[in-house]
Amino acid sequence: MTKYFSEDLQGVSPYVAGEQPQDKSYIKLNTNESPFPPSAGAVEAAARQAERLNLYSDPTCGPLKQAAAEFYGLKPENILCGNGSDEVLYFIFRAFCSKNKGMACPDVSYGFYPVLCGLLNIPYIPVPLKADFTVYPPDYAKIIGNVCIANPNAQTGVYLNLNGVEKILRRHPDDVVVLDEAYIDFGGQSALSLLKSYKNLIVVQTMSKSRSLAGGRVGFAFADAEIISDLDAVRNSFNPYNINRMSMFAAAESLKDVSYFRSCVDKIIETREYTVMELEGLGFEVLPSSANFVLAKTEKICGETLYLKLKERGILVRHLTDDRIKDYVRITIGGRGQMEKLISELKNLL
Ligand SMILES: *Cc1c(COP(=O)(O)O)cnc(C)c1O
Repeated sequence: MTKYFSEDLQGVSPYVAGEQPQDKSYIKLNTNESPFPPSAGAVEAAARQAERLNLYSDPTCGPLKQAAAEFYGLKPENILCGNGSDEVLYFIFRAFCSKNKGMACPDVSYGFYPVLCGLLNIPYIPVPLKADFTVYPPDYAKIIGNVCIANPNAQTGVYLNLNGVEKILRRHPDDVVVLDEAYIDFGGQSALSLLKSYKNLIVVQTMSKSRSLAGGRVGFAFADAEIISDLDAVRNSFNPYNINRMSMFAAAESLKDVSYFRSCVDKIIETREYTVMELEGLGFEVLPSSANFVLAKTEKICGETLYLKLKERGILVRHLTDDRIKDYVRITIGGRGQMEKLISELKNLL
């Protein structure tokens, strides 16, 4: 770092994204993207908007909010759009945390949460998951601060039911409780049904996983209108045109294409069940996953070696270095053919 780098940023330790190697073509099972292309309507909408890139996008995100409101059965004033849900998370942490009010998160979860705390000088409060990697709601009753839980959880795929979610919401009436539902379409019930009952709830979702729009960068916060208004104040103090025109219309079309969305999600769930069965057949221990990835380990080979051996064979999975999960690899559920290739390489390897 240069001598010019702000002293306020001494706490930053940037997020390390999964590899996106450009050197050769891999079977990419490392960053939880969808193996399927975006909805055809989304692709057409993006192409149409490309011709209008001379104009700024709608700073109110009107058409996208409208499409999201219809799909989720909400009002536009309950919705905030972000440049990926990562940006939505930034707005939330910026709006509701401070040096005196930290963010409590499961100790094994999305790596971006502690990174954001570092960037914003917010206390990061890790709350250990149980030995079986479940969230134990009473642990959050003792915590002072806001709460952010990925549900299903990042890295593990383990889901906390809405009963447990409500226990946490009730114990934090003066804090925001963020449920990051990046993977909710692949399993579990969304907490959107609780929005009417809890003014402190913020549900975050993304178009990156189940909607095949990771490169489009579109995410949402769903919450009480006053919470959304606070978030909009931050957004408008940062970048009122935060969603580009192509992504805004592509995302709106994608939300309208319900049958394509359902067919993609169904295929991933079916392929996940296949993959889990095969992995267990090979002696892997696999955490119960409600997401589009599985966390798996085997006695026969350590997580890091397995990752490297698969990479040599043209298959990318993710090895995470968190102490509690370093024996595992995280495998994104791709297309059926990709998973068959993975399984056959694993058979050779072991
Ligand atoms: C992938 C992911 C995100 C980020 O999604 P983007 O919308 O692509 O920024 C956020 N939270 C969790 C838990 C994720 O897994």
